[in-house]
Amino acid sequence: MSYVLQQRKKIVIILILSFFIVGTLAIFVVRDTTQFFIEKQAEEVAKIVGTFAKTARSVYSDVAISKLKNDGYGSHVDSEVHEGYIPIPAQFLKALGKATEQNTANLFHYRPVSRWNIEPSQGLSNDFLKWAWPQLEAQDQANPKGPIDWQPIFRIEQENGVNVFRYLTADSATSASCVACHNHYETTENVKKFREQAGVPLGKSWKQHQLLGALEITIPLSRIEHVAEEQLNRAVLWISIIFFGCLALIGAIYFLNARLHRNLENLSWEANHDSMTELLNRRGFEHEAEALWEEAINNHKEHSLLFLDLDKFKAINDTYGHQAGDAILKEVALTLSYERRDYDVVARLGGDEFAVLLPYCPIEIAELVAKRILRKIDEICIDWEGDVLTVGVSIGLAKIDENAESIHEVMERADSASYVAKRSPDNKVVAYLEPSE
Ligand code: GH3
Ligand code: MG
Repeated sequence: MSYVLQQRKKIVIILILSFFIVGTLAIFVVRDTTQFFIEKQAEEVAKIVGTFAKTARSVYSDVAISKLKNDGYGSHVDSEVHEGYIPIPAQFLKALGKATEQNTANLFHYRPVSRWNIEPSQGLSNDFLKWAWPQLEAQDQANPKGPIDWQPIFRIEQENGVNVFRYLTADSATSASCVACHNHYETTENVKKFREQAGVPLGKSWKQHQLLGALEITIPLSRIEHVAEEQLNRAVLWISIIFFGCLALIGAIYFLNARLHRNLENLSWEANHDSMTELLNRRGFEHEAEALWEEAINNHKEHSLLFLDLDKFKAINDTYGHQAGDAILKEVALTLSYERRDYDVVARLGGDEFAVLLPYCPIEIAELVAKRILRKIDEICIDWEGDVLTVGVSIGLAKIDENAESIHEVMERADSASYVAKRSPDNKVVAYLEPSE
């Protein structure tokens, strides 16, 4: 495989790996973003639920309880047994939470909770509350000048194999009346007894804006996770489509490119080779010979060139046909290829003419090489329909050195030497003699 093709293959592999890595990272990023989005959405919903619940409680307190107070009644923790009284705001909130939970098909639920609860169901009954409540208490102030900027506490937990978002937001003592009411409860015998049973210190007293209780909001995440899962699948599908699309595109480009490259290579090969013998043709040979001549000029080296012309080749064609002639030409080509050294260049210049470049070979040695070639060609014999075909050759030699003006001059010299050899019945290898020699 050519260097260019190898490089291209490397680039394609790198591209595919890059796409794979980017795709995988993209899926991770989408998954992570989705998780973040789920948490943010749940937090927003919890904030809305908390605000709504507190507002409903305030309205209950301001509208219903105030009205009753004006009428000489009000709210009472045991309102069932006290005629004319309605539940205290915390009880109203609890009832509202329960009703909401039923009416919203488990979308979310909330309930008032407190360390200073007035009934056990509103205590810090689970791990989340035990973890989150102290964090709210840590935000409380001894003498708040105004409303405290409470930060909600939340986390995602598993509940019966399902993820739930748990959120605790402070429900502070918003009004003086609310403070007075709760401080009063803490002094009642019932509450004192309850505190003793629950192990909570007696005598708690609030100031306005301090932490009185909190709202625990729980949002099952299964619905939003289901939507997120669908989104994620869609993202994975698109990333896969893009990935495989790009892969197909790269594959197609690579395939077309490789084919184009092969075609170009073929064209280039055909332009420089003889299709019958697969040797270099005249064009390819001249290219190689030119380079060797330049090397000889630049480095003052001596190389040799052999020019071969088969003897009476036409007669073979005429007697046995063109195919017999072709068989001889192929056999001569094989013989030359076999006899050449690794760095020698063999070519068929056309017709029954061949040439050999002998790099770094002085003319005296080249003459020996030529004689060996002559012998080998003389030894060729082909069995052709019962007859034996043989062929002779005349070889002309010329030096490739700085005495030649061009490679064409060298080739003309070798050609003229072969012409001399052709005319000489005994001397079939003739070296061109320069005028000074
Ligand atoms: P000489 O001894 O003087 O070299 O004469 P020759 O008969 O060898 O003929 P010459 O070298 O003048 O011409 C070469 C002949 O080779 C001419 C042509 O008919 C024949 N020839 C050229 N190309 C092909 C070819 O591809 N196949 C065959 N079979 N013959 C070819
Ligand atoms: Mg000939």
